[in-house]
Amino acid sequence: MPVSDESSGVDARRLRFVLVEPSHPGNIGAAARAMKTMGLSRLYLVSPENYPNAEATARASGADDVLAAAQVCSTLDEALAGCSMVLGTSARPRNLEWPTLEPRACAAQVAEEHAGGGEVALLFGRERSGLTNAELERCQFRVHIPSNPEYSSLNLAAAVQILAYEMALAGGVQERSDVGFEDDPAEQVEVERFFEHLQRALVEIDFLDPDNPRQLMRRLRRLFGRTRLLTTEVNILRGILSAAQRQAKLARER
Ligand code: SAH
Repeated sequence: MPVSDESSGVDARRLRFVLVEPSHPGNIGAAARAMKTMGLSRLYLVSPENYPNAEATARASGADDVLAAAQVCSTLDEALAGCSMVLGTSARPRNLEWPTLEPRACAAQVAEEHAGGGEVALLFGRERSGLTNAELERCQFRVHIPSNPEYSSLNLAAAVQILAYEMALAGGVQERSDVGFEDDPAEQVEVERFFEHLQRALVEIDFLDPDNPRQLMRRLRRLFGRTRLLTTEVNILRGILSAAQRQAKLARER
């Protein structure tokens, strides 16, 4: 079975955004909002200075569900429990001592970890001082958002937004982007049944010579492989094949 887009993407359920000792409650709310817009929801707060707080709720603006579900932890260890990979964002540019990724490469790294079945934490530091060296050393990778070297530090929630967006591009909003399709992606077995049906029908309408099939089915598989067929679409295609088979049968009987 070919590797599907889904298994090679970021899985929102196995990605947590961890804010370490945020001091401004407004940033916590804004981070929740930034995550929700990108289909992410697992927010962890390590010893927030001033939380819960009305300012956080106000800035969450409709993402209060993400905020309400936020896990408040007293230590970083607690926030990292169960994670197989930890990445730490840093406003300071590339540091030779530690592997550093840009956000897009970070999303690819997260996707790779998810493909292997792991769970990932992405750490964000304090507004005033970022993450400590000890905290950064807990991270397999640092993540730096390319920015003005003379003014490199983004607002905490803005940094969360950029990372959330990259995660979404890498598949984190799979569920959300499916909205609008009234149907699920077809299962591989359904697609396989469709190919068998297609082959039979092509023989019956004299398009495919079973004694000299050439590369036809391979090329058709490759064609359909470039799209992600939905169950309804497979059903439509099979309906068309059945209609063609009926017409071919009638023609033979004439
Ligand atoms: N003065 C702090 C800046 C903290 S900004 C410092 O020098 O580290 C708060 C948090 O936002 C950072 O800890 C980091 O998690 C995130 N952040 C801000 N700008 C960033 C950037 N350019 N790249 C990656 N993360 C950034």
